Amino acid sequence: MAYALKMLISGKQGAGKGTQAAKLADHYGVAHVSTGDMFRAAVKAQTPLGQTAKGFMDRGELVPDDVVIGVVVEFLTNHGDDGFILDGFPRTAAQAEALEEAVGEDGLDLLLDLDVPTDIVVARIAGRRVCSECGATYHVDSPPNVQWVCDVCGGAVVQRDDDTEDAVATRLQAYQEQTKPLLDFYAERDLLVQIDGDGDVDEVFARAVAAIDGARAGS
Ligand SMILES: [Zn+2]
Repeated sequence: MAYALKMLISGKQGAGKGTQAAKLADHYGVAHVSTGDMFRAAVKAQTPLGQTAKGFMDRGELVPDDVVIGVVVEFLTNHGDDGFILDGFPRTAAQAEALEEAVGEDGLDLLLDLDVPTDIVVARIAGRRVCSECGATYHVDSPPNVQWVCDVCGGAVVQRDDDTEDAVATRLQAYQEQTKPLLDFYAERDLLVQIDGDGDVDEVFARAVAAIDGARAGS
């Protein structure tokens, strides 16, 4: 059996990470997993960790880092050999170290970072408009037929508070601060691969495949 791809993916909100992760998972025949997926699997399998995690979630509390790490390690111990594209984990240096311990130093092929300039993702997100009635989404570049009335239901199409330029800039700043140590962590291990994430979906996908194949051929 061919050696299965094991990678992490990162990128700012609005960088198209979810779309690319799904296409890459399909292309390489591996699972695209988020921490949410792993939580659901652990809860469904009723593992002790899954039940602990469920307790926090049921009470509406944030799941502590050690439980998050435990759930991910448990999932990868059971399913990791089939390959994976891990999305949204690790988020902290402690999580990165725990992941390394779980999969071993050679257990990861790369971290693929989709690099998209901040002003571009701000424009993508800040241009977003949403129907306040049915949730249909629009963009200032592709508005409804009658501005700003929803094509689907006739509801008012508005900008969400979360999507204002200020809100997006604040989130991106926090993301940069949180992510920089992680990118450094993987750069030190020669596992960081950054690609230009600006462009249409197929262009970026082609760049991603070339970068992944190159990294695996070189390791
Ligand atoms: Zn609507």
